[in-house]
Amino acid sequence: MARPDAVRLKVLLVDDQLSHRAALSAELQAMGHDVVEAGNAEDAVALFTSLRPDAVLLDVAMPGHNGHWAAQQIRQAEPEGWTPILFLSGCVSDVDLAAGIEAGGDDYLFKPVSPVVLQAKLRAMQRLWSLHHQLQILTDQLRASNADLQVQSLHDPLTGLANRRGLDIRLDEALRTARREHQPLTLILCDVDNFKAYNDTAGHLQGDQCLIRIAQVLGETSRRPRDLAGRFGGEEFVILLPGTSHSGAMYFAKGLQRLIHQLALPHPATDGRTCVTLSGGITTVVPDGNTTIESLLSRADAALYTAKSLGRDRFFCFETQTDTRTGLAEVPDYDREQGSTATLF
Ligand SMILES: [Mg+2]
Repeated sequence: MARPDAVRLKVLLVDDQLSHRAALSAELQAMGHDVVEAGNAEDAVALFTSLRPDAVLLDVAMPGHNGHWAAQQIRQAEPEGWTPILFLSGCVSDVDLAAGIEAGGDDYLFKPVSPVVLQAKLRAMQRLWSLHHQLQILTDQLRASNADLQVQSLHDPLTGLANRRGLDIRLDEALRTARREHQPLTLILCDVDNFKAYNDTAGHLQGDQCLIRIAQVLGETSRRPRDLAGRFGGEEFVILLPGTSHSGAMYFAKGLQRLIHQLALPHPATDGRTCVTLSGGITTVVPDGNTTIESLLSRADAALYTAKSLGRDRFFCFETQTDTRTGLAEVPDYDREQGSTATLF
């Protein structure tokens, strides 16, 4: 089994003298590495950018730009990366060595390069490369996990809709936008009728399936870019419709109610009805400085309570004191934004 540090490296070899390059290149290839050669600093930087080698052997003294310049360019080309750079030099004073490290180099090799020293230095570079590579993989995995966690933290695992936290964030954004743009904001709080009886009769697993189907309809109907359906908790859902007036909200609710009827989910425990229904409370405001999320939810909740009191299976609007069974189905200004769900109804 190969040693973990025995990595085949792609080495960029930079030296203006062909004979030096040829000798080093042969040694590197004999050690099992791939070699890319450059004869000056400009070519070295261009090859580094296009080929992204694993290590760079870089002559210091070259016509035109020297190795220190090339090292600086290479470091600038990979601000988040790290590729080992070993300078090649005939004679190195303390000052030269310090300048080379300052320019971005990691180590020095003295010419003529001893094959034993070259192999030892490259072995060290391989180890560092392996560690760096593992760190990169772990960092990528961590980033992906964080992104997943972020999504999970804002969504309800059962229905896939926004959860309470996701709702809070979007409600806050929508309220600020509506206040700034003096636009109406509609919030609907809805609830599956007689859901406790459903669970008691059919069991909680079947109850979950019912919630998933209902949530699917809510998600599909709230598809304008700024609309949002979320699970408020239990069998309660919130629908947020920015830029939607009273009449638009009533139109939306009538359409939603129709879709729930068409879904025709059997309710095992309703008296007099056979299918699952929704009741909802609607509130629409052009928010001012006094409007809060809590006040909106409270008004929608009061409207939901009224809808239940009126016999369920209806959406009641707080401001107009009408419900989807009595209110006018005006063709509304709900349809103003692209991606309207009006065609679904
Ligand atoms: Mg030279």
